Amino acid sequence: MDGGVRMAHGSTVPGESGYGRDRLRTRLVVIGGGPSGVSVLAHLAEQLAAARHGRTTAVEVTLVDRTGETGGGDGFGIGIPQALLLNDSVATIDATGIGFTAWLHEHQTRWVGRLADDTDPRVRTWLAEHRTDLDLGRFGHLFLPRRVFGDFMRDRFERTARRLTACGVVVRVVRGEARSVLPDAGHSFRVAVSGIAEPLTADLIVLAPGCLDTGAPPGVGAHPGYYTHGRACGRPDSDAAMARLLAGRPVGCRRMVVLGSAAAASEVIAVVAASPAVAQVLDEVMVVSTSGRLPDGQPTGPDAPFTCRSLMGLRRDGAGELTSARLVDALRADVERSRAQAYTIVDVERAVAAEFTASFRLLTPAQKRRFVDVHYADYQRLMRHTSPPYASAAARLAASGRLRLVRARVAGIDPASSGELAVRLSDGARLTATAVFDCRGFADVGQTINPLVRDMVASGLARPNRSRRGLVVDEHLQAAPGLFVMGPLLAGTSQGDDHIWSLKNVARIHVLAARVAAGLFDLLTQDTVGIGERR
Ligand SMILES: Cc1cc2nc3c(=O)[nH]c(=O)nc-3n(C[C@H](O)[C@H](O)[C@H](O)COP(=O)(O)OP(=O)(O)OC[C@H]3O[C@@H](n4cnc5c(N)ncnc54)[C@H](O)[C@@H]3O)c2cc1C
Repeated sequence: MDGGVRMAHGSTVPGESGYGRDRLRTRLVVIGGGPSGVSVLAHLAEQLAAARHGRTTAVEVTLVDRTGETGGGDGFGIGIPQALLLNDSVATIDATGIGFTAWLHEHQTRWVGRLADDTDPRVRTWLAEHRTDLDLGRFGHLFLPRRVFGDFMRDRFERTARRLTACGVVVRVVRGEARSVLPDAGHSFRVAVSGIAEPLTADLIVLAPGCLDTGAPPGVGAHPGYYTHGRACGRPDSDAAMARLLAGRPVGCRRMVVLGSAAAASEVIAVVAASPAVAQVLDEVMVVSTSGRLPDGQPTGPDAPFTCRSLMGLRRDGAGELTSARLVDALRADVERSRAQAYTIVDVERAVAAEFTASFRLLTPAQKRRFVDVHYADYQRLMRHTSPPYASAAARLAASGRLRLVRARVAGIDPASSGELAVRLSDGARLTATAVFDCRGFADVGQTINPLVRDMVASGLARPNRSRRGLVVDEHLQAAPGLFVMGPLLAGTSQGDDHIWSLKNVARIHVLAARVAAGLFDLLTQDTVGIGERR
């Protein structure tokens, strides 16, 4: 239900009950209860606790999330099936010190117990395959169910809320969709939230709504064969529903088309197309993407380390002529040579990324911006990887002769006269399918159906950046004074030392969230009176 308000962890305001406002407190509203919003709060709590010296902090924090999430967001939410796996190993996620491994050891009985209670056969298979590693506490190489990471983040929020409360901060959680943010008198904002009659007043805002929805192409959103990634994978029985849909079609016409080839597409193929229920009634899966490939998921190359000759050559030749295009050409040459030597991206990712980063530093600011605006897409296509179980599922489908990869651009999706859907390709070809899985991801802030971001852009409070994948921010990551941005909406930022072509990775979010927290800390620990004037 929208509009639900709860106090986090015994947080109380003297003389208040339910939602209210203590006017002497600085009001911070965090929009989005995913890893971004909660990471900012976790860092802020640390900084406040370290600086507090027994003083209380006159701050009120309200976390607003449309699903009531407090850490899991959409990707790791409490309601997602436990069969859905992380795209990164535990070691990769922990590389920037988020503390996931320590939490896994501390709470092993709880999360393993919950997996063991799950009747989903896919979860049972996963547990059986990893029993020995789990018994021995060897987690680093595992690609865990995403729900487990969500549990970690939700615990992180609870710990954070306790810490903030101990500093005298009032913490509330509001379940509802933020619909608009308007500047208010006295340098504050008014945040309209669904289900709450009175807009929230905020002196400071953290905008962390995650990856934006683009919405279905016109005329197909309500079609029974049109699926987004969330609709395809969001329920434990989604493969059974798909099997019923396909079974209603004549043999030879039972085709699924998956658009895109990133993490979401890999998951649809593994969880829906390759599931035993669907495999019985499926003739063909076509994956349409600009790369024409699916991500690697298994290390299969020779033991010898791979040498990135092309990227290293760029550095040897000096930085004078180095351009974003040359950098990407060298990256492509190295990745293609690694494939020719039977390595996968999983084998060489670390070496290639290190060489790439060293060369990237040599680009001029203009060329760095060019990479963030244009060539980042090549980088993402070349470096893409998935979990070993998802890669194996796709390999099984391919071995059965029912997986076809199509390198093409999608021009549109229309209802077909057969009652199915037709995918139009930019070369004029048409693919008819019983089900189309739209995993193309998000392209343009101006096209989003997220009402809040639409409203902010329409009112001019926030502006799309040059890449249009994110918002213009200043060096403190503010879209406007007091309005901080965190997470995927920072994509396309290229200024100073910040060159962010994508910010979906929770380990990187953890690092950058500390910057936003530091900015908030500075504002919150000055005199609360007149905070707006100093912004
Ligand atoms: C299949 C798949 C696998 C993935 N695996 C990994 C992985 O292994 N490692 C990794 O680092 N990343 C992974 N990701 C990416 C990761 O899920 C996201 O990039 C990450 O969750 C971003 O965190 P966030 O807090 O910015 O956004 P989200 O997690 O999306 O959280 C945003 C929250 O804000 C809420 N919200 C949005 N708009 C509003 C509004 N107007 N009002 C109120 N609430 C709002 C949303 O409901 C959501 O709860 C994966 C993604 C997918 C699809």
